[in-house]
Amino acid sequence: MSSTVYASFVNSILSTLYPILTIYSYYVLVGKYCIDAKRFDSVVVLIMFLIYHVLLIYTLIFYMRILAIDDTSTANRFPSKVANKQAITSRYFNPFIEEEIIQKRLKMLKTCNICVTYKPPRTHHCSICQKCFLRFDHHCGLLGVCIAFHNYKFFYLFVIMNIIYCLFLIILLMFELIKNRQLPTASFSHFIVLTSLLFVEMCVSLQMFIYHTILIRKNETMIENKALNAFLRGDQGVRFVYQEGPLVNEEEVLERDEMNPYNMGVYENWEQIFGKNTWEWFLPTFTTLGDGINFPKKIGRD
Ligand SMILES: [Zn+2]
Ligand SMILES: [Zn+2]
Repeated sequence: MSSTVYASFVNSILSTLYPILTIYSYYVLVGKYCIDAKRFDSVVVLIMFLIYHVLLIYTLIFYMRILAIDDTSTANRFPSKVANKQAITSRYFNPFIEEEIIQKRLKMLKTCNICVTYKPPRTHHCSICQKCFLRFDHHCGLLGVCIAFHNYKFFYLFVIMNIIYCLFLIILLMFELIKNRQLPTASFSHFIVLTSLLFVEMCVSLQMFIYHTILIRKNETMIENKALNAFLRGDQGVRFVYQEGPLVNEEEVLERDEMNPYNMGVYENWEQIFGKNTWEWFLPTFTTLGDGINFPKKIGRD
């Protein structure tokens, strides 16, 4: 089994964990906590039932928006380089000058050798999805998709919502376990198992939340962040992580944050992902600034 096929296989197994755990949590909360125990006569339970559904639906909306990224790959946005060459060719008459112009133009464009199409700055190829995505951040094994320009905002909000969702259920179930000592054995086991699973899920989400908050603050993708860290440890192989040029020029001494040409300051970096309208920041609407091809840069680093 080749490494790509193996990675795709592991990826498809991992990506089922979130849906399975969510279905299980629904079964325990609605089936065991609310319906089996016939608690709907209590106003508190009814309120918890409603809050739970609001949290679940809001989290799932972000989840669905993360998954809807397939048609945003570069192959869906740009013509293949071969088709592009024919399009340019048909516009010129002199075949001798023609070839020279085409070669010059095509040289200016970075190309992904696998997708055979234009590769704008910050775009990277995902070896699992076999596609290039704009402002590629990482391939998320747990969700089974690439996290990139078109779903990064949804990914970050999904992580936040997931933490709230897990925390809500953990507190509710823990409270029930402590308060109600007469729980049937089956419900008791489900409550213990679900609380443990949700605790692990919450820790994973919390770790992602902290890491991506740091990335958003610096306007770095995960690839860029890892490359910058590696470069500071002496790895010269990542010197050209930005298409604009090397991380530092000869005899140039830069602070780590200055090496990133896209670091515009904390507030502007936040706006790059969440947009300029405060009231839209936490809505499941696409408000990320720009087109994913051009990004504002600090003056003097063009
Ligand atoms: Zn590619
Ligand atoms: Zn991917």
